[in-house]
Amino acid sequence: MNNLNPFLIKTDNIITGFKNEKPNPYYIFIEEGKIKEIGLQSEIRDSLKQFRSFNYPNCTALPGLVDGHTHMIAPGDGTGGDDIAKETDETLLIRAVNNAKIFLDSGVTAARENGAKNDIGFILKKAINDRIAEGPKMIVCGRPITITAGHMGYFGSPADGITEIKKEVRKLIKEGADFIKIAATGGSTVTSNPLNPSFSVLELKTISEEAHRVNKLTAAHCTSNKGIQFALEAKIDMIIHCVFDDENGNFHYQEDLVEKILKNNSWVNPTLQISIFELEHLKDKMKKSSETSKEQKSMLDKMKISVENRIKTVNKLTKSGVKIMAGSDSPWGSYPPGQFYKEIEALQKAGMSNYEAILAGTKYSAQSIGLGEQSGVLEIGRNADILIVKGNPLIKISDLSNPIQVYKKGIKQKNEL
Ligand SMILES: [Zn+2]
Repeated sequence: MNNLNPFLIKTDNIITGFKNEKPNPYYIFIEEGKIKEIGLQSEIRDSLKQFRSFNYPNCTALPGLVDGHTHMIAPGDGTGGDDIAKETDETLLIRAVNNAKIFLDSGVTAARENGAKNDIGFILKKAINDRIAEGPKMIVCGRPITITAGHMGYFGSPADGITEIKKEVRKLIKEGADFIKIAATGGSTVTSNPLNPSFSVLELKTISEEAHRVNKLTAAHCTSNKGIQFALEAKIDMIIHCVFDDENGNFHYQEDLVEKILKNNSWVNPTLQISIFELEHLKDKMKKSSETSKEQKSMLDKMKISVENRIKTVNKLTKSGVKIMAGSDSPWGSYPPGQFYKEIEALQKAGMSNYEAILAGTKYSAQSIGLGEQSGVLEIGRNADILIVKGNPLIKISDLSNPIQVYKKGIKQKNEL
């Protein structure tokens, strides 16, 4: 469809992101890929009635979803990062292109890529911008900055000591990084320890200053209290995972760190659903095998407790007014691509209202990744990035999993029957 021809979208409900609208039939008038008008169908002007109209009865129109945390090169089928990094760049790029289309079809019109190998993230972003590949609008870090043997070092940006760190950040920016992703603690990478900070506060401050000097945001993977503390001292803009584990791996929700998050006005990306998928994956594996080992049983108990603690954390952070945004961290681990809505659902189950959880995956995620002026809400003058879902996710959050159509800059991304 030629996106230059003006047209109308009509749905029974709308979520603009500005107020919790009552269910009512709405129209959206789109011209040259931008939203020109939003109004009640009962009040539509006669002059608009001449334009072609796409009608979606029993559906809700909402802003295209904004996934604040993706890894497009990964399969999300249980393969670990260490093994993914062993594949060729060509294989990884082909997978990334396929995944980007899956994301778009599921309703994600913008995404922040949190780490790919070598220059794949940059190539993917350019291919989508040049319309060689189809996918969400991409905000990319290129590669996460880490230490030698640190988490995600296999993607190609380890740096040790102030001089190397400065150079690596500058290099990433030169290559086209939109933000700087930091592995501030270890993680699933076999040679790293998720409880240990990777960088000193001074080193993190160096990254923060280098990025902010050229107006780039920062986001840090933090899977322990020490990691969170260091990242906050260095004024990192987003705390990813935000796992409150002490140096022994025991859950300790540290109120003083929460105070500091509030004081810094930092964003938190809890990545709840990926831990739920890991737990389900292990349960499945144990069900399939004839006998389960002692190690597996103790691992299962540990994971159950960890998931419960992470849900508890989101619940408490929400109540204390911390800015929570949604980013799936998919595809990664056992979290397949195309199910960002599951992270939004997980946030709702952890205590957010349907409306707040939807905002976390649209308006707030857009704001948190620097797209607040472009994406995440339905507003006159903005790009027509619109998701149409069957039902009404304000009533039933799982209706987000029923995308009927996705518009990116006013262009339909899915075939309609
Ligand atoms: Zn991640």
